[in-house]
Amino acid sequence: MENFVIVDHPLIKHKLTIMRRKDTGPKEFRELLKEITLLLAYEATRHIEIKEVEIETPIARTKGYYIEDKRIVIVPILRAGLAMADGILELLPNASVGHIGIYRDPETLQAVEYYCKLPSLDHTSEIFILDPMLATGVSALKAIELVRDRGGKKITFVSLIAAPEGVEAVRKTYPDITIYTASLDERLNDHGYIIPGLGDAGDRLYRTK
Ligand code: URA
Repeated sequence: MENFVIVDHPLIKHKLTIMRRKDTGPKEFRELLKEITLLLAYEATRHIEIKEVEIETPIARTKGYYIEDKRIVIVPILRAGLAMADGILELLPNASVGHIGIYRDPETLQAVEYYCKLPSLDHTSEIFILDPMLATGVSALKAIELVRDRGGKKITFVSLIAAPEGVEAVRKTYPDITIYTASLDERLNDHGYIIPGLGDAGDRLYRTK
């Protein structure tokens, strides 16, 4: 599938299996989500620009490369995306972080934004939207719309587990956006949960159930 990348690696498979297990507690769950995000980010950042620089080693002058990570913007979707932001920040500590809070109205099933704080964006900003569970795609579409409305153009979506329904929704509306994930699961159940998935990521991260 174009613009859809499953990062297939034994380390990710192993860590995700532990996350899926219902007896894995919040501490381990948080740590694993951070670690997997770091591994996903290694692939998801492959396209970012680097600047050539001249440096001096103790032996000679040579050419080197820097990432201008101040142009990179990480946007976790609250609340489960927060644990993923920690993973990317380990790699890109100078990136800006924006936050988007979205819930799904139980009556209308529409995405409702309750919080949006983004750094200034333009067409050069390299934006990574994070949400561990790409389920119906409703939150993802709303987050992308908010980022686009503020001037963001170069957007990558990073999830831990994706459902075919969510991938399709994003691809249909934003075919230019690349989605990175650790797993494409089977489908959604009637409550919008991913099967087999790992349950409610927010509840498992923050022990709210
Ligand atoms: N959000 C979750 O946390 N889990 C799902 O399975 C779907 C959406």
